[in-house]
Amino acid sequence: MTDQSEPRNVIIIGSGPAGYTAAVYAARASLAPLVFEGSVTAGGALMNTTEVENFPGFRDGIMGPELMENMRAQAERFGAELVPDDVIEVDLTGEVKKVVTYGGTFYAKAVILAMGSGYKKLGLPNEDALSGKGVSWCATCDGFFFREQHIAVVGGGDSAVEEATFLTRFGSKVSLIVRRDELRASKIMQERAFADPKLDIEWNSVVESVNGDGRLESVTLKDTVTGETRELPSTGLFIAIGHEPRSELLAGQVDLDAEGYVLTHAGSTATNVRGVFASGDLVDHTYRQAITAAGSGCAAALDAERYLALLE
Ligand code: FAD
Repeated sequence: MTDQSEPRNVIIIGSGPAGYTAAVYAARASLAPLVFEGSVTAGGALMNTTEVENFPGFRDGIMGPELMENMRAQAERFGAELVPDDVIEVDLTGEVKKVVTYGGTFYAKAVILAMGSGYKKLGLPNEDALSGKGVSWCATCDGFFFREQHIAVVGGGDSAVEEATFLTRFGSKVSLIVRRDELRASKIMQERAFADPKLDIEWNSVVESVNGDGRLESVTLKDTVTGETRELPSTGLFIAIGHEPRSELLAGQVDLDAEGYVLTHAGSTATNVRGVFASGDLVDHTYRQAITAAGSGCAAALDAERYLALLE
């Protein structure tokens, strides 16, 4: 166990585009950041995808893991200390913040939170195996790959209906799979969906399995009223049943909204606790893109740098 009682300038929790970008900026500002990357998923959400075509600077696209390895190496090059460990407890209230990992206890004058958010999964056996091979959680990221194909979308809320409507730009047909006989989405979103000639709704249906050998070929639907199953041929399945910001650590420490996203001051990454900044999908209900996460990681490092300068 390590116990570093001398406070660091800044500790960054999380290793997605937000955390690594914050690390690059903090390291280049000579703040010698300590980054806890997580023990299982260092590199964040893009480690689970294949091609990323919308991160600027890569004309021909880049594989998600390669993009994250580049970001990691860039942070390391400027002196960020990267530790593949999980933060299991924090005390952020005082001037000096305490961060506890499985490996020890660490202190810092500023903390940047960048733990991201997880997409809710259906929990089906083949779901992970077909992720990035037809199964996706992000229409903005992957819709383009399904031009002229039959796309299915699961969910009945605003984001599912918005994603389904957006995906009609690409797919030959979009089937929205809805558990009940009505949508939870707002009236205006519903009207837009009902008026879209490319969009069909599979009412009273849940996905029972995702099928395909190496790539998605179809989904099996189960009727929630009759219990009957049927096959829906589809090469793209977008799961839009919600997100879970990874903010469990922060309960009672910083202000969260009703869904658990960290609240920041308008136009800043500052939370309600002095010296604590938050970035990336952990705060973002709306955009949830690698580039927006990287941008807010940059902003968090700049905010932390200014905060530390005022302490001196
Ligand atoms: P994340 O990338 O989620 O990283 C958070 C990190 O924090 C993780 O590594 C996690 O392990 C770590 N962490 C969490 N808790 C702790 C803890 N307690 N201690 C230590 N570490 C912790 N966006 C695009 O722009 N283009 C795309 O093509 C694209 N494709 C995608 C494909 C898939 C399959 C998925 C899931 C997402 C995709 N996205 C894409 C969205 C993009 O990946 C996210 O918006 C982005 O990764 C968010 O970055 P982040 O740094 O906020 O969080």
